[in-house]
Amino acid sequence: MSVRKSKRMKVIIEYKGSIVEAERDERGLYSCPICNKYLFYSPSDLMHHIVSHAKGIIKHVRPAPRRH
Ligand SMILES: [Zn+2]
Repeated sequence: MSVRKSKRMKVIIEYKGSIVEAERDERGLYSCPICNKYLFYSPSDLMHHIVSHAKGIIKHVRPAPRRH
């Protein structure tokens, strides 16, 4: 028995006018190119996840509202 590293291949996903370069593993699951933690069964699931990253970034960058 031998342990084999899963082979990953780069794929280009086009979704609603956005192009994202992601990785796909042997089972055909897409991995998030931003956090690399999650696997998705479909490109649209991956894109929704990436959009949630983008929203988080936007929230973070936006300056805190001033009271005065
Ligand atoms: Zn992610």
